[in-house]
Amino acid sequence: MPYRRTLADRLRRLIAAQGPICVAEYMAIANAHYYATRDPLGASGDFTTAPEISQMFGELVGLALADLWHRAGRPQGVRYVELGPGRGTLAADALRAMRAAGLEPKVHFVETSPVLRGAQAARVPEAEWHDDLSTLPDDGPVLAVANEFFDALPVRQIVATGSGWRERFVAVEGDRFVPAAGPPVPAAAIPLHVRDAPPGTVLETSPASLAYARLLARRIIMHGGAALIVDYGHDRLSAGETLQAVRLHEYADPWIEPGESDLTAHVDFDSLARAAAEAGAAVHGPVAQGDWLLRLGIDARREALARNAPERHESLGIATNRLVSPQQMGTLFRVLGLTAPAWPDPEGFS
Ligand code: SAH
Repeated sequence: MPYRRTLADRLRRLIAAQGPICVAEYMAIANAHYYATRDPLGASGDFTTAPEISQMFGELVGLALADLWHRAGRPQGVRYVELGPGRGTLAADALRAMRAAGLEPKVHFVETSPVLRGAQAARVPEAEWHDDLSTLPDDGPVLAVANEFFDALPVRQIVATGSGWRERFVAVEGDRFVPAAGPPVPAAAIPLHVRDAPPGTVLETSPASLAYARLLARRIIMHGGAALIVDYGHDRLSAGETLQAVRLHEYADPWIEPGESDLTAHVDFDSLARAAAEAGAAVHGPVAQGDWLLRLGIDARREALARNAPERHESLGIATNRLVSPQQMGTLFRVLGLTAPAWPDPEGFS
């Protein structure tokens, strides 16, 4: 085999050449490499997501969006937009449910990984791919979905020093990547309720996530539509470090072998909601994924599927439990809805 330089080698050379980089840049470079070079999903991969657990997840997303579209007066020219569609499983399940409800949207995927674009094309061949939202045609209502997309977007880390705040940078020490003090961050940039945090406190912010929330909101307000954002995270920004690495379904060290494990951080739903509301969108939730799926009728869907395939009765029960139970994904995962102000309220939020 020809010698191939690893991403860690390339990052070490980059830092040696131009000095430490900020955490957001480290995370962006690591994840771009990680997703570009593999399909990380499922039991044989690094982590499993809700749509990979059961078809019920995507079907209920599709039904919720189709219901909203019906109540909005069935406008024409709808575009289904999914951010980070993984294997395309959620989209395939959602589109099947939408078609059964009379909605046949054009399909747009925002995806940077060539490997995952290939997997998505196998399931949803009619899709059109984008690197980001800037190339999405500027017409027609948008029904947008993002499941475990925002948690993969880069976060900045800002550390309290006792006499102020500093951006955390990443330096190299021997073979390891280590945190290093970066430039000072003005106190005015730190939210009031955490400004007096004790020395060592880490704050995370994700400018890339806020930019996506604003763009989605603007796009929805312009021509109507809605967005459903599902992810794990907190309803209100709190101090503390949540950046983590996952590999082979186990926690790994985010500072070792960048690009070989999935780097994620808790999604700050409060800031996302605020950014979308400031842009003019109506905000729904966040609510717990378990409550949302129960309100959307996951139990009835499970029973219907089990009636048609009695041999799946037990596995459907296990899958429902994984999605809904507070001990599993039911509470940690939150759902945020955005709608155009003139559109009706989406189901599942109250
Ligand atoms: N939504 C899928 C996959 C979640 S994994 C599911 O629930 O199974 C994260 C997804 O986001 C992958 O498809 C990954 O390639 C994509 N992704 C991560 N960062 C991205 C970025 N900056 N731009 C576009 N896509 C990105």
